Amino acid sequence: MEGKDVIIDVRNAKKIYRMGQERIHAVDGISFTVNRGEFCCLLGTSGSGKSTLLNLMAGIEKLTSGDVFIKGQSIKQMSENKLSKFRQENLGFVFQSYNLLGSMTALENVELPLVFKKMPSSKRRRMARGILKKVGLGDRMMHKPKEMSGGQQQRVGIARAFVARPDVVFADEPTGNLDSRTTIEVMELIKEMASKHNQTIVMVTHDNSLAAYADKIIRIKDGHIESIEENANVKQAAGEAAETTDQTV
Ligand code: ADP
Ligand code: MG
Repeated sequence: MEGKDVIIDVRNAKKIYRMGQERIHAVDGISFTVNRGEFCCLLGTSGSGKSTLLNLMAGIEKLTSGDVFIKGQSIKQMSENKLSKFRQENLGFVFQSYNLLGSMTALENVELPLVFKKMPSSKRRRMARGILKKVGLGDRMMHKPKEMSGGQQQRVGIARAFVARPDVVFADEPTGNLDSRTTIEVMELIKEMASKHNQTIVMVTHDNSLAAYADKIIRIKDGHIESIEENANVKQAAGEAAETTDQTV
């Protein structure tokens, strides 16, 4: 079947935090796979372990036990150097609080992942400009984060996450600080960016309505998987929308 290759494989992942005498089983034995090009949503209430799981998958937090494979490579086996190189080459991140560098312009922020890739400046400027135009910020490139709205800052965040064409983009509550209208715009943008180059998205949210954007919904409760749901309706609806568009052209 086309597009069914597994890109992320989470195997019995566990994370235990020790707080004095207490042991918190934040992620308590979670296994699932994500296929290439899939939009996967980790859905659950606050404190259920979503962010911890995302951070384990991205190699930001160390597993207590279990393993995570991305593109067949064990995150656990990698040295810090290897891991940071792997992240630069394969992963992108979108954060709830945008995490842009305040002293840099939108353009410089978006160029940053390409600087780490040691790309020549003319080429990286061209790529950063191109993607900023795509996210609708062609007229805000020289603005600094504090000179932009929340929605604009998150557009910069999305441009930065996608500019180097990573295979996987991780997003932790990317619309958590945005109003409902901007939330829809940002979600559509993430979906559009990812589908263009068959990139894989893993997004954390507590908002049930956002799960509608996902192909696969993984419900998390108390560090466990409650259910895994393939969202056929979304694909079907998207397909129908595309057909409708085709007919009008
Ligand atoms: P969510 O993202 O679903 O809101 P988290 O993954 O942030 O949940 O947290 C899961 C559980 O782990 C919570 O009980 C939280 O208090 C605990 N936790 C998260 N990070 C830490 C940490 N660094 N140290 C101790 N406990 C933590
Ligand atoms: Mg969280």
